[in-house]
Amino acid sequence: MSEVHNLVVKIGSSLVANPDRLTPRYGFMQRLFEDIDRLRQRGINVILCSSGAVALGLRTVGETPDTAGVSDKQAAAACGMPLLLNAYRHIGHEFGFEIAQVLLTLGDFEDHRRFLNTRNTVNRLLDAGVVPIVNENDSITTEEIRVGDNDRLAAKVAQMIDARTFVILSEIDGLYDRHPDEEGAQFIPEVTDVAPFMEATKGKSALGSGGMTTKLMAANLAQEAGTDTYIGHGDFDNPITSLIDGERRSTRFPAHDVGASGWERWIANRLQMAGSLVVDSSVADEFVNDRPVMRSDIRSIDGDFTRGDVLHIYDENGNERARGLSDFTSEELRVLAVNPHLNAEQLLGYRTKGEVVRSKNLVVVESRHLTWDVPQRAEAGS
Ligand code: GLU
Repeated sequence: MSEVHNLVVKIGSSLVANPDRLTPRYGFMQRLFEDIDRLRQRGINVILCSSGAVALGLRTVGETPDTAGVSDKQAAAACGMPLLLNAYRHIGHEFGFEIAQVLLTLGDFEDHRRFLNTRNTVNRLLDAGVVPIVNENDSITTEEIRVGDNDRLAAKVAQMIDARTFVILSEIDGLYDRHPDEEGAQFIPEVTDVAPFMEATKGKSALGSGGMTTKLMAANLAQEAGTDTYIGHGDFDNPITSLIDGERRSTRFPAHDVGASGWERWIANRLQMAGSLVVDSSVADEFVNDRPVMRSDIRSIDGDFTRGDVLHIYDENGNERARGLSDFTSEELRVLAVNPHLNAEQLLGYRTKGEVVRSKNLVVVESRHLTWDVPQRAEAGS
């Protein structure tokens, strides 16, 4: 058997929940586990990231996809999660698999300690031969602290466990150059850079939270983590292997040759940034030579962040040049910025070299790093 590696598969709500009756689609789950069994025999561990909790719980709370508001969906997720997992458990047993539930949210990816801890748990489950089933902990997460869609959540899981392959299964066979219902829409079999397609893919699916836009963001995150990604239709026999073996069409997003360490990838490829700094272009030009960001380099600061949060670093022309982990809180930085002539130790009350972002915690951003989340700018000291 060749070396064992990991594959993350994201399952859209419309595959696991019948859109009219909002009940589990056992036939799909059966085909899925049969394929997971096949992958296991090839030495490939599968991690499922499955949507469907909200869809399956809606009836219990007396709602439909059209009527449900935020708190209805949070309650529906609590009702639907055991139904979803019970269905998977039942089918998994037919193939001799045990399953496990892993509920995550934004902080589990953005906080490095929690990121590593979650990774250990998922790896331990894989060692035990269990199929981890990941979803967002929808019932308890508010807007600001949630990922919001399982496309990007699954991409972060792929990054976390160094997956070689990431497959997004939904009800569409891949990416088109415009809305697939529009006349003349062309299928795109392979995408190296998602940026030119972002505008053309606005809109979202009827049952789930994502749409093609979040799928492209997810594909980009995974590409940057060195993971090959496929987007394809899931409602077929062998839904995963038929795509990765090229027996059915899908859009493939080949991994970028990143050569970055896990730490650098964690800094650069994120779902959320806590704030931003602006420095002079001449300073930014030196980042490739391991120059840290010094206190005196900062032209403006935006956002409320704490020590250890990751920031965008722009030059004065508004180009993002790096991402890095701050050694100071935003309050401390503002105090330092408005009092440039006073000693940092006097101002802060502790000893510091005044390095705002150390070079080992700074990653130079290239044009392929897309900026998903640009906080508003503010002046230094504001
Ligand atoms: N977490 C949601 C659920 O289980 C789905 C989110 C999504 O579709 O992206 O229903």
